[in-house]
Amino acid sequence: MEDIKKAFEIANKTKIPLIPRAGATSGHGGTLVYKKGIIVDLTKLNRIIDIELMDQSVTVEPAVTFHDLEKALTMQSLALCSYPSSIYSGTIGGWIAQGGEGIGSLKYGSIIDLLLGLEVVLPDGSVKYYTEKEDFEMFVGAQGTTGIITKVKLKFRFDIPLKHIAFTFDNFSDMLKGLSRCREVEPFSVWFLNKHKVDYLNKTLGYILPSRHLVIVSKEISYDEEEKEFREKIYKIVREEKGQLISDYYIQGIWKARFKIFSILKEMENYILGEVSIPLDYGAEYIESLPKKIDKKILIEGIMVSFSTVSIILNLVLKTDQSKIKQYKKFLQVYKWILKAIKIGGFPSATGLWFGGYYHTIYGKEREEKLLKFKKEVDKNNICNPDKVWSPKVKQLPLISLKTAIKIIGELF
Ligand SMILES: Cc1cc2nc3c(=O)[nH]c(=O)nc-3n(C[C@H](O)[C@H](O)[C@H](O)COP(=O)(O)OP(=O)(O)OC[C@H]3O[C@@H](n4cnc5c(N)ncnc54)[C@H](O)[C@@H]3O)c2cc1C
Repeated sequence: MEDIKKAFEIANKTKIPLIPRAGATSGHGGTLVYKKGIIVDLTKLNRIIDIELMDQSVTVEPAVTFHDLEKALTMQSLALCSYPSSIYSGTIGGWIAQGGEGIGSLKYGSIIDLLLGLEVVLPDGSVKYYTEKEDFEMFVGAQGTTGIITKVKLKFRFDIPLKHIAFTFDNFSDMLKGLSRCREVEPFSVWFLNKHKVDYLNKTLGYILPSRHLVIVSKEISYDEEEKEFREKIYKIVREEKGQLISDYYIQGIWKARFKIFSILKEMENYILGEVSIPLDYGAEYIESLPKKIDKKILIEGIMVSFSTVSIILNLVLKTDQSKIKQYKKFLQVYKWILKAIKIGGFPSATGLWFGGYYHTIYGKEREEKLLKFKKEVDKNNICNPDKVWSPKVKQLPLISLKTAIKIIGELF
């Protein structure tokens, strides 16, 4: 913490910005230096400080990975309430700054619902410890623009075993109807893959799943009776929504695949990846509107983040040569699909650099105004990860924002 305070002191004197970086898995450009700046590598702040059974909380340094925390909790028959699928390298502090939602959020909420305390070094060098939700809002989803988080206290759950049931659908709209009915079983998580992603899993991991859209519903189960009721309810939903059950034999393998989203690529293949949350009711129409020409190359994976919203990860699989600048126009293609989703009521999963200027679509205008006011109060020299959350001006074209520039270039492809 002393080092971070010192770094802010130097940054304020020299006006050279600091850019916090932990696991660097975010993909939204929050850890990139846009103009000039010093990267603050936080990965050494990785101690688990305390597990407190009485108030069901754990206190950690910010760069503890979800995987390390889960290992420590499991030893005491405890578990994470929710976590991102980047469990092995994504960190707690990074997830807070990203405004994360993930597996388990359907039951336990997003990261803000799990927070009990946050210690932050503010850009003016002062250290604050916050315990209220309205204060957490100044850091959750703020991409490290308002301070560097140095300690986190968050809730855990008792390790009640999860039971999973998987089923498939022929078409996407039937699958979405099936998803919306999963609320009837109060699940821990609902996760799905489109048919092309299933085909990829079969091809690359040797699975033999039917080539159909796949859903996995998970629930914490304590008693046999509870499991029986869970199964009966899901079987009824599957029957009524024209789905087909998958044998339990495959379940553990499928469940493990939630951490393997990149490992299914073959040589010379690459993902261009984008993520957008979209109201469930518009999901089918949106998927239908994606280009048919490259349909088979669009692998979709998603989770329900609430009973009315799904978070869809669009993976465009391409043979790419990353040394060729032309390949990057394909990134803009995925960006365009996300903008399309935003037009019909969706929102990007985080801001960062690429979605700077979209904070209000995620959290609302009022919260954006509060955040901006707070930023101005605590960071008078704008040295804490500037150019993120709010869209920076493009250097060559100072009158337009990066958001507008990407939109214009995107239209050309
Ligand atoms: C395969 C894969 C799967 C993913 N799955 C999910 C998912 O299911 N759900 C989800 O929400 N995200 C997901 N992500 C995105 C990302 O992995 C998570 O949000 C992760 O928790 C970010 O942590 P990080 O340590 O990598 O953060 P980084 O990428 O290092 O940083 C992210 C942002 O946080 C800021 N930051 C980092 N640490 C601090 C700190 N201590 N104080 C202040 N600011 C800080 C950085 O400046 C940056 O703006 C996934 C990413 C990948 C690659």
